[in-house]
Formats: sequence, C-alpha cells, structure tokens
Amino acid sequence: MSSYGQVQVKNGRYKFRGDFHRLEQHMPIRDADNGWRLVGVTKPRDMTYVHTYGGEAEFFEALSQGKLLATKCDNPACESKGSIFQPFRIHCPDCLAKNAVIDMTDVAKKKATIHTFMVCARSGAFNMLDKPIRFINVEFEGVSTILFSYLLLGEPKIGMRVVPVFKRYNPTYTILDLSWVPAGTKAEELPEGYSF
Ligand SMILES: [Zn+2]
Repeated sequence: MSSYGQVQVKNGRYKFRGDFHRLEQHMPIRDADNGWRLVGVTKPRDMTYVHTYGGEAEFFEALSQGKLLATKCDNPACESKGSIFQPFRIHCPDCLAKNAVIDMTDVAKKKATIHTFMVCARSGAFNMLDKPIRFINVEFEGVSTILFSYLLLGEPKIGMRVVPVFKRYNPTYTILDLSWVPAGTKAEELPEGYSF
C-alpha cells in the first residue's frame, strides 16, 4: 500500500515517511493510420516535491491565521531605511541587511488599491483558480513594492479599493490562501472557507 509522503523536522533534520515517487499504469501509444502499430508508451509519474519556505515560513503561517505580514528595513545605515516590502522579502535589496517582520493587515484592510490588472481566460498546467482569473497588482500606501495576487469576487478596475480575504478554513499554506475582494463586500458574500 502506498501512502502520501510526509515530512517533519526533528532534532534539526528533515524526516521523510511514506512514498515520494509513485509509478502509475503505462499506456500504449498506437498509430491509427498504420494498423494500430505500437509507437511507444506513456509514462505517468507522480512525484512529491519538498518545498521549504526558509525565512518566509511565518508569512504563510500568518495567512492561515488571517494576518498579512510584511518586512521592513530598520538598518540605520541604509539609504532607504524604513522601506516596507510586500511581497515579503527576507533581506533589504538596498543594504542587504536582514529585514524586520511587521504585521500590515490593517494597512491592507484600509489602504490597498488595484494598481493594474489582467484577466486570463486560459491557464497553464496545475492551475487551481477558477477561470477567468482576475490577476491584480495591489498597491499599498507607504509600501515600496506591489503585490501580485488575484481578485476573488467582482470585476477589477484600476484604482479600486480592495480588502484582503484569507482562506482560514482548510488552508493550503501557499499564496493561494490570500486573495482580495472589492471594499464593501459583505462577509456572507464570500465563498465557503474564506473570511476577512
Ligand atoms: Zn536597507
């Protein structure tokens, strides 16, 4: 019996349990125009990729708790001291010092607007979002960077005020736990599992 691969860190080491590679049924490829001659086989593979978050782990943990964390350069010697970064950057790109972690949930709730957007009717492999996907670039007052995310409800417009929505029920611990809705959206309008 196969079991899903699971990983734990214990005594500072990664401990692996279960199956991380699975083979599935091969299927023949045949030539329909030449008497169904055998041409080859498909080779399905199921592989579990282990993605460690490093210093960004607390950002993803916070999303599952309904909080949006950012980072800030506090280095007094930095020419850009005080810069706030969202997306979450571990180090300041100007002075390379380690940034401090800050909670910017309040700024996101009160001072976020759509800088620009893109609506995609098609997607690539492994897409998990409903189509059309309304990708938005979110601008925050007082923040040096712009966040790439998606609008969960409504139609995007440049300059539109948006508020964050978190997938707190059954979180994925990925960036998909964060999305946005137009300011003024009521809690009962949100899809199941999502909350402000
Ligand atoms: Zn800096």
